[in-house]
Amino acid sequence: MRLIIENKSGYLNDYYFQTLCLLYYPGEKFPKNDSGEINSAFFYLDKKENENGIHWLAKVKLSAGEKSSEAFFTTENYKLVIECGDEFFATLALGKAFLQAGRELFGFSLPWGYITGLRPVKRAKNYLEKGYDDKTVKRMFTDDYDVAGNKAELAISTARLEMKMLEKIGHNVCGLYISIPFCPTRCEYCSFVSYSNAKLFKLIPDYIEKLKLDLLRTSKIIKELDFTLGTIYIGGGTPSILNCEQLDGLLGEIEKDFDLSGLLEYSFEAGRPDTISVDNLRIIKSHGVG
Ligand code: SF4
Repeated sequence: MRLIIENKSGYLNDYYFQTLCLLYYPGEKFPKNDSGEINSAFFYLDKKENENGIHWLAKVKLSAGEKSSEAFFTTENYKLVIECGDEFFATLALGKAFLQAGRELFGFSLPWGYITGLRPVKRAKNYLEKGYDDKTVKRMFTDDYDVAGNKAELAISTARLEMKMLEKIGHNVCGLYISIPFCPTRCEYCSFVSYSNAKLFKLIPDYIEKLKLDLLRTSKIIKELDFTLGTIYIGGGTPSILNCEQLDGLLGEIEKDFDLSGLLEYSFEAGRPDTISVDNLRIIKSHGVG
């Protein structure tokens, strides 16, 4: 799609504007030569000053084929639920103008407002840890980020659960994250380090062998530091892309190198149904994952 940005804020890079667009235009690309593009977005963001002080002004125009919609938002007299820095005000003005234009053009609201990227739970946790109560954090999500009430509650309850689990973890407890950075295909929204090129799949056997050496080294460090292993998360990428032999070898190496008696969590990411089979699930289960 065509993207025109007049950003006088000094904050927010072009990538941010692109990710914002993807909320209403999933799967769009932003080619340099955009003259033939059907959809477009225009963003204007500036800081203004008057007798009421400094505020932000955002204008957004979105087009989808023949149809278009415009909106603007100013933070003049806007009161945040939880005080934040100048940069958040710029993001808020832009986000609210974008959502209004999008709602009018496409006829629906976005359940997570203008939040981009991952982990709204992390935002909830940050504020809960600072001592804000659930009601205030919910209001921050719904009022300042335009998140739907049920999604705000979901983020808060998940954050509370996470905090409860973290309380159980002492200072000498560590977590192990193991990445298998290969995927059968690339998901449109993916921003992770992962290889989906068939030629690069040839690297998997070597990768697993090096990973085993790394695991052995890591286990020695954990012992030297007198730490306890509290969590293991095998993610990626797509760990279930490994064949049965590779999977069995990797999980066996973990059992051999680490003391698993203190584990609170042992997770294996299995989010790609196209890589799940009865055989690999049996192997995962037989090594005590879960
Ligand atoms: S499965 Fe995950 S890591 Fe792989 S392409 Fe999809 S989102 Fe990215």
